[in-house]
Amino acid sequence: MAKKANKYHGYDITTQAIHTGTDYDLETGAVRRPLHMANSFKLPDDLSQVNYSSTDLLMYARNGNPNQHWLEEKLAALHDADDAIVLASGVAALHALFWTLLKTGDRMVYPNVSYMAVYRMFHELFNRKFNVETVMVDMTDLEAVKQAITPGTKLVHIETPDNPTNGITDIAAIAEIAHRNGAVLSVDNTFASPFNQKPLELGADFVVEAITKYINGHGDAQGGAIISNDLATMDRIRYEAQVNVGSVISPFNAWQIFRGSVTFPLRMERINKSAQKIAEWLESRANVTFVSYPGLSSHPGHVTAAKQMKNGYGGVISFGLNTDDKAVERFCAALKVVTFAVSLGHDESLIFPQPSYDERIQLYPEVFRKGFIRFSVGLEDPHDIINDLDQALQKIGL
Ligand SMILES: *Cc1c(COP(=O)(O)O)cnc(C)c1O
Repeated sequence: MAKKANKYHGYDITTQAIHTGTDYDLETGAVRRPLHMANSFKLPDDLSQVNYSSTDLLMYARNGNPNQHWLEEKLAALHDADDAIVLASGVAALHALFWTLLKTGDRMVYPNVSYMAVYRMFHELFNRKFNVETVMVDMTDLEAVKQAITPGTKLVHIETPDNPTNGITDIAAIAEIAHRNGAVLSVDNTFASPFNQKPLELGADFVVEAITKYINGHGDAQGGAIISNDLATMDRIRYEAQVNVGSVISPFNAWQIFRGSVTFPLRMERINKSAQKIAEWLESRANVTFVSYPGLSSHPGHVTAAKQMKNGYGGVISFGLNTDDKAVERFCAALKVVTFAVSLGHDESLIFPQPSYDERIQLYPEVFRKGFIRFSVGLEDPHDIINDLDQALQKIGL
């Protein structure tokens, strides 16, 4: 596919989020483009030029749909990038990228802390099924990273801030090490979002985002995106992973996420501010054992985060309570404003315990192994959120 159109290049991200990818409806003049629920499209009269594995022609839903394409235009613009591919989930986007880039015998390097499905893919699937050499490393330790990324390494994948510990990885430094060894760098940018961080500007080759989270922002649709300036590889991803594996996004989900994305910069601005305030409040509490939030000067990655996160530090706070797993559950269940559920980046605040029996707990820094909670700050009044946390802490005797 050709480079995505970006009529609002150079405009502020708030303006781009409103105007990119939208237009008058050609048939009716409506100021909103329609939701196209169709799984087939009229074919051209002359079929001799049609490539049935291509995404260029609208012909069948798995080859692409108009709502997907308009959302792709917007995501490319939000990252000042040439191209974006939107698929059915964040994990589908991660898989599509890895599936296209890696083959038997290749070596790749991944972080010791990452989204669960990334850990699964490299800890037990790509290595065992396809004999890809997958090397786990602490990405916050640049010396260890230099050892792990050997010449001929195909791919380096990082996540910053990472899920669930909020660790910070230096994107520019890892990009330099990766490129020196002939590897490409992909960055999971879900926690930061393009409002706070644009990895392509820092040297990354591919960005992956779960647009289920901040871009959609309303807890009602699932989607994932790959964003890049490497048009040739992006076309390979469309061919190898979208059309021939099939993880395309439904038009309805693309339509919902497109709608959510309009207000995304405003929501991020509010969430950045509220999360900073709440992180500082948590840090002042006696029975809070640690607060991992990149906006706090106590965070070991704060200086790096300040360098690469331009507008703020996102809405996820990882923190610990000086208590056991059962009391953490009681704390989460006692909240009235904050919702006790997985996921992050919704309008509502969400809380999710990371129990001490989690199979990956030994991979996290020591303090995270007891009373660890992942908290996603929402759009509610920050004082209401603080009061809610306070009353639930009192309820469990902290
Ligand atoms: C949620 C999440 C994903 C996966 O997205 P889904 O839409 O749930 O598949 C990937 N990476 C990170 C960092 C996430 O938080």
